Amino acid sequence: MATINIRRDVTDPFYRYKMERLQSKIEGKGNGIKTVIVNLSSVAQSLARPPAYVIKYFGFELGAQTNTNPTDDRWIINGAHDAAKLQDYLDGFISKFVLCKKCKNPETDVNIKDGRIVLDCKACGQRTDVDLRLKLSSFILKNQPKKGKKDKSTKKAERRARKEAEAHGDEDASQNGGSPGDSASDHADENGDYDVAAGSDDEFTRTITEGAKDIEAEDAKEIQWSVDTSEEAVKARAKDLPDDLKRALVVEDDDEGEGGSSAYDVLGKWVLDTAAEKGGVDKLDNVEIYLKAQELGIEKKHRTLTVLAQTLFDEHIVKQIEPRAGMLKKMITSERHEKAFLGGTERFVGIEKPELIPQVSAILVKYYENDLVSDDILKAWGTKASKKYVDLKISKSVRKSAEKFIEWLDTAESEEEEESDEE
Ligand SMILES: [Zn+2]
Repeated sequence: MATINIRRDVTDPFYRYKMERLQSKIEGKGNGIKTVIVNLSSVAQSLARPPAYVIKYFGFELGAQTNTNPTDDRWIINGAHDAAKLQDYLDGFISKFVLCKKCKNPETDVNIKDGRIVLDCKACGQRTDVDLRLKLSSFILKNQPKKGKKDKSTKKAERRARKEAEAHGDEDASQNGGSPGDSASDHADENGDYDVAAGSDDEFTRTITEGAKDIEAEDAKEIQWSVDTSEEAVKARAKDLPDDLKRALVVEDDDEGEGGSSAYDVLGKWVLDTAAEKGGVDKLDNVEIYLKAQELGIEKKHRTLTVLAQTLFDEHIVKQIEPRAGMLKKMITSERHEKAFLGGTERFVGIEKPELIPQVSAILVKYYENDLVSDDILKAWGTKASKKYVDLKISKSVRKSAEKFIEWLDTAESEEEEESDEE
């Protein structure tokens, strides 16, 4: 299924936070017409939020009834709604209930404390508040999950809080009156859109009403707050890379026998973090880096070189190669390693620092002079664009800039040959 960036304003194809595009279908007709969001669970999982929040948010925005607790994973909004429009609404949900308010990273935990909803950012560490005036905020506060066993006083306090919230909700409902033409986002009961119009008894309405009854009891069990334990989410967490660095440390996944990519991401993040801490990547010691790779058990892996090429350098890369050559030489032990190193370099200049593309030839000269990559590999790499590490367009522009180097290499070789002929 097609995936899109969780932040649709980020156009970087290597943005690591992705989700499925919303898939919906319209069912029924007339008054019974409804929109089923086929992959809501998957999308919610990518956002590490309970699907009930997402569907509920749509309900509030559209002023439509929704079911927040389907037993069959059929997430339904009453009425016919355009998928593109829902996707736009989802952007709103993400910006209000998922993204860190400070750094806009989507990897946040939801914490509820003292009636506040706080997003705890894993990237920058900032805790920011969700606007409590939003209707969904009331729903979230009202449907807090139970966290294991609690002592009596906590339970009592929670019961009291819930009662208060209910009383508050009922008040709204009575004010609501249910004039059908009104925009529901202004008037809908913040307890939910369960206040089903009197006398309507079609099957869909019944389903929703039944679901509403169960929700108080069931949501607590069903809703997994911040701890999404799906394989995908765990993997995403292991990567745990700040979005603003956008290093795209996604190493190729098609290799066998090298396990998951998380150790590589850990190494990459460690280099970046330590560099930031120390005030520049040049302050990082070669031995330190090597030992870190060793600690992670990847000091002999070719993919490690892809990560290092993306993290060891900044805009002064040409000058930074030689001081790293000793360590790199120790780690580059096969042609495969050489290629992985070039791939990382291609990503670094192609995606991370495109302003360095004109320097590709100068970079390659340094690789060559320091015996990091052999001339055969350099030649093969420099003459054939590939979409293994970056998209083809970027790959081509990197190769274009490598032309000077390839020419230089040819000349250097033919001179060497001439010299040896003379001997
Ligand atoms: Zn943040």
